[in-house]
Amino acid sequence: MSIAENIARVRAEIARAAEEAGRDPREIVLVGASKMNDAQACREAIAAGIDALGENRVQEMTVKLEQHAYDGAPLHFIGHLQRNKVRQVVGRVALIQSVGSQPLLEEIEKTAAARELIQDILLEVNIGGEEAKSGFAPEEMRSAGEAALRCPHIRVRGLMTIPPADADREANLGYFREVRALYVDMNEKLFHNELEYLSMGMSGDYADAIREGATMVRVGTAIFGARHYL
Ligand SMILES: *Cc1c(COP(=O)(O)O)cnc(C)c1O
Repeated sequence: MSIAENIARVRAEIARAAEEAGRDPREIVLVGASKMNDAQACREAIAAGIDALGENRVQEMTVKLEQHAYDGAPLHFIGHLQRNKVRQVVGRVALIQSVGSQPLLEEIEKTAAARELIQDILLEVNIGGEEAKSGFAPEEMRSAGEAALRCPHIRVRGLMTIPPADADREANLGYFREVRALYVDMNEKLFHNELEYLSMGMSGDYADAIREGATMVRVGTAIFGARHYL
């Protein structure tokens, strides 16, 4: 299957899930998670109409930016971002999806201020409370939202989550529901209902995520095929 065929299949699945949930499929943003796929694969996805591409690693993203891999589509950063790499990301991507700590928030603010730009971000929720995973704990989300609102060079556009990889389907649905509830609550109480993006769902569960309220899905292997780890 070509990348274009895979995108068409994923789009059809997205449409089905959205309709089942009584929602407009056009409100779902499809982000291609293009890590470990080369510039040519990124260009094919863009030619096939992907809404955005998402990268995980700063080094790989920087190389592919130089190769013009993302020309024609918005680029998102979706991976764990270290503070010392913030300078290589702020202003280069349309959206940083994975902002999961106060120090990271502060570093992004400082860098965006110095560059006189406003950086769009999502706040990442560590919904499974996993030690090894980044993201704010659910109970920290409100103060994280308040902290972000105090940063004039940061604009919060929504929330992002990655549930624990070993969750069964029921548990996974439960995590999606919890994050959706947090999103609705924070949107109403802190963000004047101006948030747009609830980013959850990957190749194995994006249809479930959409049925539970996702407006953005990050899909890698179902579009690009199995990744070849270096
Ligand atoms: C790789 C990745 C994805 C996509 O994973 P697949 O299972 O290949 O669809 C989504 N989100 C993040 C943050 C990723 O790193």
